[in-house]
Amino acid sequence: MASEEHPPTPPNPEDFQRRLADLMQRHFSGFNPGAAANATGPTGDPGPPESPEVVIPRFNLKPREVKTHLDRFVIRQDEAKKVLSVALCDHYHHVRLAIEGRDQPNYAKQNIILVGPTGVGKTYLIRSIADLIGVPFVKADATKFSETGYVGADVEDLVRELFRRSNGDVKRAEYGIIYIDEIDKITAAANVTGRDVSGRGVQTNLLKLMEETDVPARSPNDIAGQLQAMMDFTQRGRKPAELINTKHILFIVSGAFTGLDKLVRKRLREATIGFAAAPASLEGDFETLAQSQTRDFIDYGFEPEFIGRLPVRVFCHPLSVDDLFKILRESEGSIIRQYEQTFAAYGVEVLFQDDGLRRVAELAEEEQTGARGLMTVCERVFREFKYELPSSPVKRFVVTRELVDDPLAALQRLLAEHEQEERDVMRHLADEFAERFTKEHGLAIRFSDAAADRLVALAQEAGSPVREFCATRFKDLQFGLKLIAQNTGRREFELDVAAVETPDQVLSEWVVSSYRERPESAAANAPAPDGAGGQAAG
Ligand code: ADP
Repeated sequence: MASEEHPPTPPNPEDFQRRLADLMQRHFSGFNPGAAANATGPTGDPGPPESPEVVIPRFNLKPREVKTHLDRFVIRQDEAKKVLSVALCDHYHHVRLAIEGRDQPNYAKQNIILVGPTGVGKTYLIRSIADLIGVPFVKADATKFSETGYVGADVEDLVRELFRRSNGDVKRAEYGIIYIDEIDKITAAANVTGRDVSGRGVQTNLLKLMEETDVPARSPNDIAGQLQAMMDFTQRGRKPAELINTKHILFIVSGAFTGLDKLVRKRLREATIGFAAAPASLEGDFETLAQSQTRDFIDYGFEPEFIGRLPVRVFCHPLSVDDLFKILRESEGSIIRQYEQTFAAYGVEVLFQDDGLRRVAELAEEEQTGARGLMTVCERVFREFKYELPSSPVKRFVVTRELVDDPLAALQRLLAEHEQEERDVMRHLADEFAERFTKEHGLAIRFSDAAADRLVALAQEAGSPVREFCATRFKDLQFGLKLIAQNTGRREFELDVAAVETPDQVLSEWVVSSYRERPESAAANAPAPDGAGGQAAG
């Protein structure tokens, strides 16, 4: 049997990482960034005190201004927008005071718990605010974390990710926003269902971050980071490792919290004997959820300390067909704009008619994934359009209800209609060529129907404009026809398919036979041309 030190097969990646980290620490204990910092005391020279403008570019906003900004992008969710605007403004004003050294010692950070179904704008709200204020933002799913960090990700990685998004600026990272979705999946209740990851452990780890802790900018498990630290050491001597303090990082957790409404309803019933349950409906469920209290979250399976660190509770509405329609039509972030741009890149203009948008909204609502359903539906509807139109002559189209209901049929109709239109125009151009020829040379030509169609097809195949195509193909036509006219007195000619396909050959045959046709008097007066003409005369 192989001993522990000599496994018969390579260790799994987590095991390998752990062993390597242990090795690094045993032999180069100074290279654990955290340990290095501790060994050298406080992180060296703190540098000049930063100004709030530098780390929080737009910290001076008022709640109403934030809400007005959100209204441009996020439809509905008015209450959520208000509560978030107030909480975020509070938080960043406090941060400003802290940066200026005037913060209140007992200030409770405004960490937020966001409750609402998937795809209703929870992330979108927070991301929009982070963009507005100009602070870094990181989002992750709670389910990917493990207690140890060996199996899954480590919650501290979130802070390091903020650091990365701040381009390695510790100060900017320290005032960023961390958003953790699916928080409802790491409750004690979720663990009962056989998950291998301890939700309680992850809650404890998150709690540490939410309170205050220093996170090394380089993970002790990040071998590349460790090696980088070693290189820095050999090249520049020991450099104090960078630590990110989490005191002012804003934490926002969110989830759908399925079943929380039942706990709330039960509590309300207990409080009011004979309390009549509200009729079950999406809005009814929402109203109930909006009455959640700390106790309900604890009953749901959260540690009291954990939930206690999330004082701001925000509830997001499920989205109705009307809301989805408005998102498409009015939100500045509407995916409709994305589609307009995509098609415009190929020179195709798309016009979305209201009935088309409403149908997209109806289909999206059936998906039950909030506004995400809009993307699914649009992807399905426009897939073939995106493939076919860029290589077709179609330059514009209108999105109607019929199109959304049967995109393939609409696309085929559009292409066929366009082809017919195109052929009609080309046919016109061919006739116009004949007319001009008639005027210019005093000899009338016309194309038979079949010949005109063939001509158009040939021009299309050659990819050249009809006028140019005719001019090249029939450049010697007048010479031959003039001879024929001289020989026979004919001044009107119908060009058939053969004449269109091989004009020179057909023309010379015509000329030859015209010599046979010519009356004796004309034959005596006019010298026969060389070759074929001579033969005909003989
Ligand atoms: P979740 O609530 O699951 O966090 P998101 O905020 O990520 O959902 O929404 C997904 C996408 O759907 C967003 O990027 C946005 O384009 C769109 N969206 C969702 N809700 C809204 C809304 N209320 N108003 C406008 N767009 C929305």
